[in-house]
Amino acid sequence: MKIHEYQAKELFRKHSIPVPEGYIATSPDEAFALAEKLGRFPVVIKAQVHAGGRGKGGGVKLARSLEEVRSVAAAILGRPLVTPQTGPEGKKVRKLLVEQGLDIRQELYLSIIPDRSTAKIMIIASRAGGMDIEEVAAITPEKIIKVLINPLTGIEPGHCREIAAGLNLIDSLVEKSSTLIKNLYKLFIETDCSLLEINPLVITAQGDLIALDAKIDIDDNALFRQKDILKYRDTDEEDPLELEASKYNLNYINLDGNVGNMVNGAGLAMATMDLIKSAGASPANFLDVGGGANAEMVENGFRIILSDSNVKVILINIFGGILRCDVLAEGVVQAARKTGINVPVVIRLQGTNVEKGREILAASGLNLITAEDLNDAAGKIAEIIGK
Ligand code: GDP
Ligand code: MN
Repeated sequence: MKIHEYQAKELFRKHSIPVPEGYIATSPDEAFALAEKLGRFPVVIKAQVHAGGRGKGGGVKLARSLEEVRSVAAAILGRPLVTPQTGPEGKKVRKLLVEQGLDIRQELYLSIIPDRSTAKIMIIASRAGGMDIEEVAAITPEKIIKVLINPLTGIEPGHCREIAAGLNLIDSLVEKSSTLIKNLYKLFIETDCSLLEINPLVITAQGDLIALDAKIDIDDNALFRQKDILKYRDTDEEDPLELEASKYNLNYINLDGNVGNMVNGAGLAMATMDLIKSAGASPANFLDVGGGANAEMVENGFRIILSDSNVKVILINIFGGILRCDVLAEGVVQAARKTGINVPVVIRLQGTNVEKGREILAASGLNLITAEDLNDAAGKIAEIIGK
């Protein structure tokens, strides 16, 4: 689960990690009042959306007067913000972080992630922080330091010294950075983060180390024990179809192709997406209805696929194991009756109760295209898409 910058900074404050003073505004007038409360300039206005690269997209602006705060806020609020990470349609800005501007001497980079290959926690740091960190990593990887921490023994003073040395910090900052890194590590572990990133972590003219930006992702599998964090969920930021699917415990991911597909089992779903690609088409979604799906889940899945206006054809690929073919067929027929099918549906069924499933589909009077096997299904999809 992603959370907003202002929420991540709230967690930072709770863990004694220095952040600039700032407040949330939802209107230009409110931004004006909050800037007045901050009491000095510049004030930074930051769009709160679940995407990075806001600086490059015009979502982070400095304002030097109260009137400018109001006009900058009015220009950003309520409109889609397009950044290198949002796609061309952008993300609508509903909230602004109105923050005290800092006098920046240097922008550093610091992040924490689980490293799967070593099963350790990795801290990544760089002296070359700021908006072009991706380029730094690609062109001058030697400017990136990586330190691995065994999660069983935790963070030790040596790890912090290694990072401070790698960042080439002056003596007066070494102690401050060690405290900051220890606190960040603690926050990372306690809140089950899958990513914690500060870019930039700044050294100010006053010689302080402050998290100017904050990005935190929480491991979805740990949300059951992170009730406080769950309150940070912002469904406005989620894909509407994925949000709908999550209500029915469907494993659905919206993609940008035009072949909708419904499959049981994640492995078969991945293989089906490959099949669609090899047929020269492109999947509109990933949907694993799961082994234990009932007719209602199938119906909901089918309805969600049908409500995606990009979908030009649907491929149903089911291997009846625990999910029996007749149950699947009933779900499809129910959904089709309720929603009406306006696109061709190619269906490949095999496994438990396959005959019964086919009978249900045949008796339904629906116009379904039956495929004998996977190759046949791919051929039929290619033919329909090619028309
Ligand atoms: P991102 O582009 O979405 O990662 O947003 P950031 O919060 O990282 O802001 C982008 C850039 O805006 C930073 O790298 C800074 O250069 C600049 N910026 C943000 N806050 C301040 C500030 O208080 N003072 C100054 N001078 N620059 C700032
Ligand atoms: Mn940033």
